[in-house]
Amino acid sequence: MTTSPVTVVVGAGIWGLTCARSLLKSGRAGQILLLDSDDRAGGKLDTLPRSGFLVETAANGFLDSNPATLQLCRDLGLGDKLVSASGTAARNRFVYLKGKLHRLPANLWGALTTGVVGWYARWRVVSERWRRPSIPAGDESIADFARRRFGREITETLLDAFVTGIWAGDPETLSVRSCFPRWHEWEARNGSLTGGMISRRRERVLEARMAGMPPPGAPQMWSLRGGLAELVGALVRECGSALQTGAGVRALRYRAEANQPWEVVLADRVIQADRVVLAMPPDAQAKLLDTLDAPLAAKLAAIPSNAIAVVALGFPARDVPPGLDGFGYLSPQREGRPVLGVQWCSDIYPELRAPSGMALWRALVGGPRCPQMADAPDDLLLRTVRDELALVTGMKAEPGFAKIIRWPKAIPQYTLGHAKRIEEIQSHAARWPGLFLGGCAFGGVALNDCVDQAGSMATRVLALDQPMG
Ligand SMILES: Cc1cc2nc3c(=O)[nH]c(=O)nc-3n(C[C@H](O)[C@H](O)[C@H](O)COP(=O)(O)OP(=O)(O)OC[C@H]3O[C@@H](n4cnc5c(N)ncnc54)[C@H](O)[C@@H]3O)c2cc1C
Repeated sequence: MTTSPVTVVVGAGIWGLTCARSLLKSGRAGQILLLDSDDRAGGKLDTLPRSGFLVETAANGFLDSNPATLQLCRDLGLGDKLVSASGTAARNRFVYLKGKLHRLPANLWGALTTGVVGWYARWRVVSERWRRPSIPAGDESIADFARRRFGREITETLLDAFVTGIWAGDPETLSVRSCFPRWHEWEARNGSLTGGMISRRRERVLEARMAGMPPPGAPQMWSLRGGLAELVGALVRECGSALQTGAGVRALRYRAEANQPWEVVLADRVIQADRVVLAMPPDAQAKLLDTLDAPLAAKLAAIPSNAIAVVALGFPARDVPPGLDGFGYLSPQREGRPVLGVQWCSDIYPELRAPSGMALWRALVGGPRCPQMADAPDDLLLRTVRDELALVTGMKAEPGFAKIIRWPKAIPQYTLGHAKRIEEIQSHAARWPGLFLGGCAFGGVALNDCVDQAGSMATRVLALDQPMG
């Protein structure tokens, strides 16, 4: 007797939702169940409506340099709700250096005309194209890579701020191959990072010309009018009754002799399944796999995550000091500040994130340099952020609104050796027929990466049902 296979996806963050939706949409994946321990889907992604403000709990938007999330929104019928970041936000990004805010250059070459770095650092940028590649055999940290290509000053200022903005991590411990695989590829293929960038730009212009489109501009950030919760809501609707919230998975068991070998153990029941896709953070996957396969669980548990507190503050717009319009600012590690960066949300998406006459700012606190601050009591956290804002931006007004969101395991950190660790994890997991490991610990943490990887995972799962050629 042939029955249609049962696939259980565990974890309904953006990754699990996108994977389950792709499986459901294919119409040939058998029965799909998407389980989440929380009482809502979306995982870290949510938008909180509070006192007229719309506060993003984690991601603030996604870039169009990879069209995955933009396309997903359009496919979900959200095309008319898409909003791009304001022109001011695209132009004005700041970095806090030597006690002052400086406008960040729009790209690497912009560093030549700003006063953010000295003449020697600028010369290192210009001459990078002709610096011979000397790629080490093993893994290399982002900081070592950048020092080799651009020197110490660029590494400790612009590069550090850039890494803080994406990974909220330490460039000395993060792997360049895993965090920025393109940079590594460009050096290997084009001999330099700038050479790789120029060649990629040419390719994009050519692609656009062939598609009858105007030449692409600088990458833009996008969101939805009502925040990223609208993306979650649309995915939830498409997943329909396949999604079960409040359904935490406690363990996985495997019975090789059974027709449906996987047993997905919940508090109140056991679900028999043919395939299981794990789409939770690595520590949660480790817990689930611990009794089934302790060595695999140990490898997953070895992937570290940082701790971040998001502190959203609302101010009367008239209290924002002059000149502070744009995306926000980042603070590189060498400044030793407790706040990693601040996003001026109501400037990024004007009229959509704060009530009229108000401004919404979001400070990110914690990360590798100050992990204990992410866990500090509310009053200390608020006081620290307010002192920092007064020091860095001159904003001394009393916030009329405050909301703190804490992520003890915010973003998996792709530290040195990550690629090897992932390879070992995946080849170890392949010993379990029908087990698939996904989530943002594997192929990128940005929403675009999650959407891309979740789609590829659905294709892999569906391939199991293809007759062998
Ligand atoms: C502060 C912050 C800012 C960010 N900013 C950006 C940004 O601007 N742009 C961008 O592209 N990305 C950003 N990111 C990254 C992005 O938001 C995340 O990488 C992404 O949302 C992770 O999605 P996920 O589905 O992999 O994991 P999660 O969202 O963590 O979802 C995992 C799900 O698994 C569930 N789960 C866990 N254990 C179990 C269990 N045992 N049984 C059942 N369910 C379980 C959880 O409840 C959760 O719903 C940011 C992240 C943070 C933290």
